Amino acid sequence: MSEIAIVGAGPYGLSTAAHLAAIPGLQVRIFGEPMSFWRSMPRGMLLRSNWPATHIAAPAAQAARLGLDAFAADEGAVPYPVPLDRFVAYGEWFQRHAVPSVDRRQVASVEAAPRGFRLRLADGETVEAERVIVAAGIRGFERRPERFSQLPPELVSHTAEHPDLGRFAGRSVLIVGGGQSALESAALLHESGAQVEVIARDRIIHWLQGRASKLFHHQMGSLVPKLLYAPTDVGPAGLSQLLARPALFNTLPRGLRDRLWRRAVRPAGARWLVDRLREVPLRLGYEVTSVAEKGGRVLARLSDGTDRQVDHLLLGTGYEVDIARYAFLAPGLVAGVHRVKGYPVLGPGFETSVPGLHILGAPAARTVGPIMQFVSGTRYAGPALLAYFAPRYRARLAPQWQCA
Ligand SMILES: Cc1cc2nc3c(=O)[nH]c(=O)nc-3n(C[C@H](O)[C@H](O)[C@H](O)COP(=O)(O)OP(=O)(O)OC[C@H]3O[C@@H](n4cnc5c(N)ncnc54)[C@H](O)[C@@H]3O)c2cc1C
Repeated sequence: MSEIAIVGAGPYGLSTAAHLAAIPGLQVRIFGEPMSFWRSMPRGMLLRSNWPATHIAAPAAQAARLGLDAFAADEGAVPYPVPLDRFVAYGEWFQRHAVPSVDRRQVASVEAAPRGFRLRLADGETVEAERVIVAAGIRGFERRPERFSQLPPELVSHTAEHPDLGRFAGRSVLIVGGGQSALESAALLHESGAQVEVIARDRIIHWLQGRASKLFHHQMGSLVPKLLYAPTDVGPAGLSQLLARPALFNTLPRGLRDRLWRRAVRPAGARWLVDRLREVPLRLGYEVTSVAEKGGRVLARLSDGTDRQVDHLLLGTGYEVDIARYAFLAPGLVAGVHRVKGYPVLGPGFETSVPGLHILGAPAARTVGPIMQFVSGTRYAGPALLAYFAPRYRARLAPQWQCA
């Protein structure tokens, strides 16, 4: 029986385990293949988050030793923007140094048990834990609009399904969406020899770090940008600082918080995609209104009444959190979690209304704020969990974590 079981070894699971290791004697087990979600992303992808926002957070005493800079010094230079394969390597390096004892087995199910929770692992073994911290990410939450469901998977797929977009070389692909996944997929497809067209509902594409803000940064030196943008790098100038302080952000009325959340994570593309997309037609202000299969291809009708016939339709339509879609969580447990629109309502320490069941990462965004949708939110999550667990395990705490 362990005290805490963590499900998932991505940035949040690893960062949490690294923080909880500061509590001597606390029995924590962490399950899952490290960084596996990131390994499923398209080869050649670059991270959109900036350098400080790409560190996986570690306890303050180890932060410098476990940051991206230390990784680069140890394992070779990391270019910026950070390429996907270097970030995966960084996550694995972080795991080896901070959380060497990851159990790589998948958790097949989590259900309530007399003294907490019972976890069944992929090979059938069961383990028990007093508490479970779910850090399982967004895999399975892909948004697939109903109107595309009639097409078979050979003709329509989500950007989440393609670690190698090179398989579309020489074929025509219609991409739906105007956010980073859609736009970066368009660039990667174009560069690998596919004929690509992007259809996006918004009339403009929001480019992050646009000309105005670049000029502004340049003229004002580095102090002003630092005042306006927090290292978490989520949200525009000013709002970025508010979102980096969940305790302050959460004093605002719910409606305003929801509006600011939508603003902070609206579909947007990294500025470095502009040149790479020069030869890709971007149809802005259009929708795909209907689709049908025709001769083994996709016939798509757009909102202006024109048709496209393509080999494949790629949904860059993002993700929508619904913890009921975590296949490993027993329906009885999910039923006990107070939820709003698929998000769990969380208390201190990310605890759900099921005592001992904690949920981190994107599902925590409705309670904590949009930083939870990004790696940089680990800066908040780890210390918040320690602050929650500290009183419970006070006698065992290393001196730097003891509260007065
Ligand atoms: C294309 C794309 C690009 C992105 N780019 C950025 C970026 O540049 N910067 C940024 O900050 N964020 C980016 N994100 C968001 C990113 O998903 C999150 O920041 C990050 O993954 C959050 O970490 P996590 O630990 O919550 O989730 P994950 O990284 O998904 O880790 C969760 C882990 O849990 C594992 N898991 C799930 N279920 C189980 C189970 N039953 N048993 C065991 N293990 C399990 C998964 O396999 C996974 O490895 C991007 C997302 C996408 C889709």
